[in-house]
Amino acid sequence: MEEFRWMINEAIRIGIEKNLTSQQAFNSNVYHYLSDNTEFLKLYIARAIQVASSKIKDLRKTRRKNPNAKIPHYKKPYVIVDKQSYKIIGNTLLIGVRPGQSYVGIPLNNHTISQFSYPHTKTGAITITHDTISISILKETQSITFVEFIGIDTNLNNISAVHSDGMVNVFSDVAKITKIKERYRRVKSHFKRNDVRISKKIFQKYGTKQRCKTKQIIHTISKKLVSQKKQIILEDLNGIRKLYRKGNGQGTKYRSRLNSWPFYEFRKQLEYKSKLYNGVEIIKIKPNHTSSRCSICGAKVIPEENRQIRCHCGHREDRDINAARNILYKGTPVVQLRGLWLRPDASQGEVMKQSKDVEQITMSQINQL
Ligand SMILES: [Zn+2]
Repeated sequence: MEEFRWMINEAIRIGIEKNLTSQQAFNSNVYHYLSDNTEFLKLYIARAIQVASSKIKDLRKTRRKNPNAKIPHYKKPYVIVDKQSYKIIGNTLLIGVRPGQSYVGIPLNNHTISQFSYPHTKTGAITITHDTISISILKETQSITFVEFIGIDTNLNNISAVHSDGMVNVFSDVAKITKIKERYRRVKSHFKRNDVRISKKIFQKYGTKQRCKTKQIIHTISKKLVSQKKQIILEDLNGIRKLYRKGNGQGTKYRSRLNSWPFYEFRKQLEYKSKLYNGVEIIKIKPNHTSSRCSICGAKVIPEENRQIRCHCGHREDRDINAARNILYKGTPVVQLRGLWLRPDASQGEVMKQSKDVEQITMSQINQL
């Protein structure tokens, strides 16, 4: 691992000194130097050069904006093992050390084995650090075309999901996450000990516990939603955190609560799980008016007590479910075609483009109806 780290750093240094740009230039300039100076990892030189050249590429990009950007330097030892440098036989991972020579054997547990024994699954490169081994898995997904949709609203109190088949889920565990984080913050702020070492240790323990709990809750919800085999629709919340920064009129407490809700983690999980298990990208719609308009007639809603909304058309509902309904309708061509309210701000072209395949299916479905 030390050697791999050294190789990358050396390759970066040489690459910058000689201003190398292409992979080829790297190979001819760096390969022999590294090969002459490494003892064990000749098998890994190509990968080290690849890492270095992509790092330099990134550096050039950032330097265009910020000319003072630092040259990347790897501090932690690690190794990337390419596919041709390892084998998995039975329950043992064999990692090649020298070309055509010895292997290091590492036993794998059943859970790990089960992860890549599914059909259409292949293992990719392996990353090893001093205490972890990560095996990347390549999954060939057959993409499914859905006829049912789910609109999902994520807010401070819950995750509300409205399905096109009429089902409604409200996951109120989200409030638990906010509470866990608040408790953590409180414990941290009340902790006044002089011994920095001990307090640091305790915070770390709390922090890890908190992250584990949060992750678990979020995993359960995202799994449940993705396993429905329906097309997921979310608001495009790029920049939501920017909305809740200082000086935007919200109190510090409210802001910190909102920022503590792992929006990004949840959405990231939905995205990757939808891709991985269903082979489908989620649809993202513009968040305009999703919470302020009636999902039945499109008029402005009147907020009531207990997070309820009321509309002059007679519609009364939980505000989060109403929002999820709006998200569903905005992103679902079939519902729009059924004659429900077409939001004036809905950029239909965009939605249609994103769900082209889906649209065709739903059209034929309508014909059948
Ligand atoms: Zn209405």
